[in-house]
Amino acid sequence: MARPAVFLDKDGTLVEDVPYNVDPARIRLAPGAVEGLQLLHAAGYRLVVVSNQSGVARGYFSERALRRVARRLRELLAGAGIPLAGFYYCPHHPQGRVPRYARACICRKPAPGLIVRAAQALGLDLARSWLVGDILHDVEAGHRAGCRAILLDNGHETEWELTPRRVPDARARDLAEAARLILHLDAAARTSPWGNASQDLPTRGGRG
Ligand SMILES: [Mg+2]
Ligand SMILES: [Zn+2]
Repeated sequence: MARPAVFLDKDGTLVEDVPYNVDPARIRLAPGAVEGLQLLHAAGYRLVVVSNQSGVARGYFSERALRRVARRLRELLAGAGIPLAGFYYCPHHPQGRVPRYARACICRKPAPGLIVRAAQALGLDLARSWLVGDILHDVEAGHRAGCRAILLDNGHETEWELTPRRVPDARARDLAEAARLILHLDAAARTSPWGNASQDLPTRGGRG
């Protein structure tokens, strides 16, 4: 049976945002990341990174450098008992300088291509999956893939261009709070007589 996943934006969500950094020694997990991902892993969600990496198209670093970043991330998470099911990235950008990457594509968020590709490769149930990101492009990509989406309210989004599919299902201050929300909302949906209550936050003296 296809499993649910939580798709994670990388920069500013899973790791502290250091623009265009590919030095493994400078990778730091964001506050709340370990706690949140441990909760999600224990609850059975597969954890998959989906990241725009236009630095490849811009000529700032190679895909090989990105693979070292992915390896370091897996190490950091494995040290906390958290397995990463996949690391998917978009190396493209329409205005890039490296010809083979300088194009429009279907994988650069807000397009849903990375998520769809991961779901096919890993056997994931998108309708039961979530995306967590720090900007509205992440939220839109999650929704276009058929997932629900949480925006981290950490000040990284600055444009607030809110079309309907960019409105997050919930907001959280970090991955720990996002994880608790996901577990709560999915548990509420399972116990609801209506079977689906993604907005069913506790109201009438709920115990959540
Ligand atoms: Mg980000
Ligand atoms: Zn792409």
